[in-house]
Amino acid sequence: MVDLGEVTVKELEYLRAINGEGSPISITSLSRKLGRSASSVYEEINHLASKGFVTKNPDGVCLTSDGKLLLELVDNSHRIIETWLVSLGFSVEEACRLASKMETTMPIEVLRKLYENMGKPSSCPHGKPITFEDTALRAVNTHN
Ligand SMILES: [Zn+2]
Repeated sequence: MVDLGEVTVKELEYLRAINGEGSPISITSLSRKLGRSASSVYEEINHLASKGFVTKNPDGVCLTSDGKLLLELVDNSHRIIETWLVSLGFSVEEACRLASKMETTMPIEVLRKLYENMGKPSSCPHGKPITFEDTALRAVNTHN
């Protein structure tokens, strides 16, 4: 099962950087992009590979399907929390800032209740899609 709560801010930063560029991305490009030394990037990549979120090949690093699913889950979490906070009266900017702090720590069961209670919104206040039902189903059914 791919779940939130086990991903750190640092891991998320790496996964997003790997996902953003045309992958596979080399350790050199990644260290430039993240502003970290090649040796620390190398170390973190090995760590993420041991967790099953990235793979290394001669061309560079890319996300596994679990890595992509985890990012999708975090994005959904962010968008659901954001939609909820706006409904409570926070501005979109404030909701976005607060959601960034909570996106990796909100348990899926809580997200599901929020999502259902809000009538299963199809997009966040920025207009980005919420695909929670599909994403959460795949996350729960992942075996690794
Ligand atoms: Zn946002």
